[in-house]
Amino acid sequence: AIYPDDDDGDGDGDGDGDGDGDGDNLLKYADAAMYHAKEQGGNNYQLYNENLTKQIQKRLNLETRLRHALKRDEFILHYQPIFNIKDQKAIGVEALIRWQDPEFGLVMPDKFIPHAEESGLIVDIGDWVLKQACHQIKEWESQGFENLHLAVNVSSKQFEHDRLFWSVISTLKNSGMHAQQLELEITERMFLNISNTVSESLDKLTDKGVKLSIDDFGTGYSSLSYLKQLPIDTLKIDRSFIMGIPEDQDDAQIASTIITMAHGLGMDVVAEGIETENQLQFLNNLNCRRGQGYYLSKPKSAEEITELLKTKF
Ligand code: C2E
Ligand code: MG
Ligand code: MG
Repeated sequence: AIYPDDDDGDGDGDGDGDGDGDGDNLLKYADAAMYHAKEQGGNNYQLYNENLTKQIQKRLNLETRLRHALKRDEFILHYQPIFNIKDQKAIGVEALIRWQDPEFGLVMPDKFIPHAEESGLIVDIGDWVLKQACHQIKEWESQGFENLHLAVNVSSKQFEHDRLFWSVISTLKNSGMHAQQLELEITERMFLNISNTVSESLDKLTDKGVKLSIDDFGTGYSSLSYLKQLPIDTLKIDRSFIMGIPEDQDDAQIASTIITMAHGLGMDVVAEGIETENQLQFLNNLNCRRGQGYYLSKPKSAEEITELLKTKF
């Protein structure tokens, strides 16, 4: 039964009694139900309801708008400085994308990155981010701020067909930035079903000198075996653990354990989301080398970062 509530009995399932449910609609409804079934993990069936069509329209609409956004240059990058905790000098930046939507204003990544990933658009968006950010680093370099590190967030989709590898290689070449300055941030989720192609791709990138860090460390997939199997340079302690320190005993213990483990494995650590002086001091005492967070600096436009670098570099 594709029409669960065809209560007006006209056979089109839309309940308005005008019987316009022709073959096209039937296919559309079946499609919607199939899509929904797939989203539930496949191997099940779902009945059609009007909500499904609305959801799909919303999704298609957002996808179209994201596609246009790329063409019309509506994305911008903000940068959050990453500091050396000891002397509080800026040693790098993390590129964070925003969407300047003509209709809705500034849209944050949490609102559109998941859709970009679902639709595959993240591949082109990710290329844009990489290109834009590497050129910005060269721009800062030309102003005397040399050897800044650039952290770029990447999604697992970007690794498919070796795409990320090739765009990193060509972007580094075109911008003239050193591979050693680039740090790709991936999340633990990616390791859930890592393919050979992806791990080969990670190896090839690190062979070139590119660094790899694990973003939001401690919140995702809990197996630690990938830490020794993959060429990881840095763990970024998730903000949720930094929030409670130093008062919360559990958070303090977790942060301290991650730092000790990372150092023991020869990895570097970045603490994310530092919001207070107390947190900063606590992390400094634990020998956490790098940190970022509102206490040090919020993400800012490239121009604002240029100003900040004049005093904090
Ligand atoms: P993330 O990579 O973990 O980035 C850190 C997020 O925490 C940023 O949010 C940043 O603004 C926020 N943050 C930094 N310090 C503090 C703090 O002290 N307090 C609080 N409350 N928040 C802080 P944002 O910019 O909204 O980005 C959210 C997420 O979107 C990022 O999390 C990242 O996963 C994703 N993202 C951003 N840009 C890109 C991109 O270019 N590509 C991909 N694939 N994902 C991106
Ligand atoms: Mg990140
Ligand atoms: Mg993070």
